[in-house]
Amino acid sequence: MTAALRAVPPDQVQLRAGFWRDRYDANREQGIPRLYERLEAHGVVDNFRRRSGASVSPRRGFWFTDSDLYKWMEAAAWVGAEELDAVVPTVLAAQTSDGYLNTNFEAHERFTHLDWSHELYCLGHFIQAAVARKRASGHDDLLDAAVRCADLIGREFGPDRRVERDRHPVIEMALVELYRETGTARHLDLATFFCDQLPWRQWDRLWGHAVCALYFASGLTDVAIETGDEERLDAVRRWWNDLATTSTYVTGAVGGRWTAEAVGEPYELPLARSYTETCGAVAAAQWHARMLRLDRDARAADALELVFHNALLAGMSLAGDEWFYADPHATTCRTEEHPWIGEELPAQIAGPLPLRRAPWRDVTCCPPNVNRALATMPGELYGTDAEDNLWIHLFASSRVRAGELELDVDTDMPWSGRVAITVCAAPRHEASLHVRVPGWSSAPSAGRYQQERRVWKVGDVFELDLEVAPRLLAANPRVESTRGSVAIERGPFIYCFEGIDNPDIDDLRDLTLRDDTTFAATPGPSELSGVTALHCAATVVEPTGLYHPVDSPIGPAHAVTATAIPFYAWANRGASPMTIWANRDRSS
Ligand SMILES: [Zn+2]
Repeated sequence: MTAALRAVPPDQVQLRAGFWRDRYDANREQGIPRLYERLEAHGVVDNFRRRSGASVSPRRGFWFTDSDLYKWMEAAAWVGAEELDAVVPTVLAAQTSDGYLNTNFEAHERFTHLDWSHELYCLGHFIQAAVARKRASGHDDLLDAAVRCADLIGREFGPDRRVERDRHPVIEMALVELYRETGTARHLDLATFFCDQLPWRQWDRLWGHAVCALYFASGLTDVAIETGDEERLDAVRRWWNDLATTSTYVTGAVGGRWTAEAVGEPYELPLARSYTETCGAVAAAQWHARMLRLDRDARAADALELVFHNALLAGMSLAGDEWFYADPHATTCRTEEHPWIGEELPAQIAGPLPLRRAPWRDVTCCPPNVNRALATMPGELYGTDAEDNLWIHLFASSRVRAGELELDVDTDMPWSGRVAITVCAAPRHEASLHVRVPGWSSAPSAGRYQQERRVWKVGDVFELDLEVAPRLLAANPRVESTRGSVAIERGPFIYCFEGIDNPDIDDLRDLTLRDDTTFAATPGPSELSGVTALHCAATVVEPTGLYHPVDSPIGPAHAVTATAIPFYAWANRGASPMTIWANRDRSS
C-alpha cells in the first residue's frame, strides 16, 4: 500500500457535544429515518419485495433507484439504524442464485445496456453497503452476498471476457474496498480493469459529469494506492491539483455547468446558474480524503474541511430531512413557487428557480449520499501513519482511540479557534501527534501539520488557539462570475448575505464592501441552530443604467448595515435572495 496514512474508522471516534455532533444527530435522528420512510412510500424498497415475489405492486421509480437504498443502507449501518435489520433480508431475497441483483432488469436484459443501465453502479453501491455493515457491526450477511456479486461481475467482465464498463463509475471504488475487506486480489484486479476501460492516461484534467468524474478519480486513486502504480499516482495528483486551483468553488462545491452536470472549463464557476449537485460535494469530500491519506498533504485536508463545512452541509436542511439537488451559489428569487415551470427544470431554461430543499425528488441520489457522508464523517477527523502516530485532520469535540493512544479533543470550532487535546491513554514509548494548522488561520504554521513528539502521559494537554477573525477573499480574475467581488471567510466557513436578514437592501447584487470592512460577530437568528452571524457597515450602490463612463458614478449610494450568515445555513427560512459575493470597493 502506497498511502502515507490510514483512516481511523468511524467507530473508533465518538463525537461529543458540539457543532459536528449536532449535524451528525440531525442526520441520524431525522435525515436517515425520514428518508427511509420516503424510500418505502415511493416504492424503492417494495421493488425488492416484488423481485422476490413478496409484493405484486408494479416496479416504481427510475431504473437506478436500487442505488438510493444501498447508499441509505451504508449510512444506516454506521449509525446503527434499526430499520436496517428489516431491509437486509428484503434485499438479500431479491438476489439471484448466481449473484445478480437488480430490481429493474429481467434475466435476458442483464448487462445489455451498460451505456445507461447503471447496473454496475448499483452493484457498486451494494458492495459499499455490505462492507460498511461488516465493519460497523461485524455482520457477514451482506458481505457474503457482495462477494457473490463481485464474482459474478468477474465471470462476466475482464480482459479476456467482456471488455465493457458502466457509464457511471462507483464499481471501481467498491471493488477496491471489497479487496481491502476480504484480501481477495481478484477484486482489485477487476477494479483496475474497469478503470482502464477509460482513456485516463490521455487526460490532463478531469472533465465532464462532475459526479462521474470524481467517483472515477476516487476509484483510480484507490487502485493507485493499492498497486503503487506511478502513472496512476501521477494522474490523480495532477487532476487533483487542477481541480483545486481552477475548478472548485469558494464553498468547496464542484461541477457548476448545467449542461451535462459538468466540471466546466478552468475558472468556469457560475453562481446563480451553478449546478453544483450535492452529490458532487460528497464526491469531492471522498476524493479529498483519499488524496489526504495518499500524501498527507495539508492542502487536501483544507479542501476536505472546506467542502464539509460549506457545500456539503448546505445540501441538507438544518433539521436534517430536506435536501438540495442542485445547490445554487446565488439567487435573486423571492418566492418558492414558480408560476408555470416545475422546479426540476434546469435554471438555464427556467431562470432563477424557486429555492428550497425538498423532502423528496424522483432522482434521489443526493439525500442518501448526504446520509452516508455525515454518518462516516467522524472517520474523516483522524488518521494514523505507519508508526501509529496520530494525525488530526479536522476539529470536532470527540474521543478518539488509535492503537495505544486515546485522546479527548475539546473544541468550540468552528465558531472559535480554541482546541484542547487531552491524553487519556498513551503508549510507553515516544510518539508523535500531528495537528493540522488550517490554511485559513493566520498562524505561522498555517497550511501545515504541527508535530509534537514525546513520551505522552495521561493528563498531558496540547493546546491550539487559532484566530477565526473574518477576512475578505477575492477570486482569480479569470473567474468571470466573481470579478471585482469579495467573499467573507471566517474560520472554515464561507458566509453569505440572505435577503431575509437584509430587508433594507433591495437587490443584494448592489451590496458593496470596502477592503477595510470590519465585522461584528453576534449570535445569529434563533431558527439557525446556533450560528454566528456577522454584521458590517456596507454601501448599496443602485445603478442607473447598464453602462456608464468610468469617470461618473454608477448611481446613487447609501450606507447600510449588512448581515451575513454561514452559507450552509441559508434557505432554511423560506425563499429569499442570496449572495456570497459582494462588490469590492478598493478605495480604502
Ligand atoms: Zn445527487
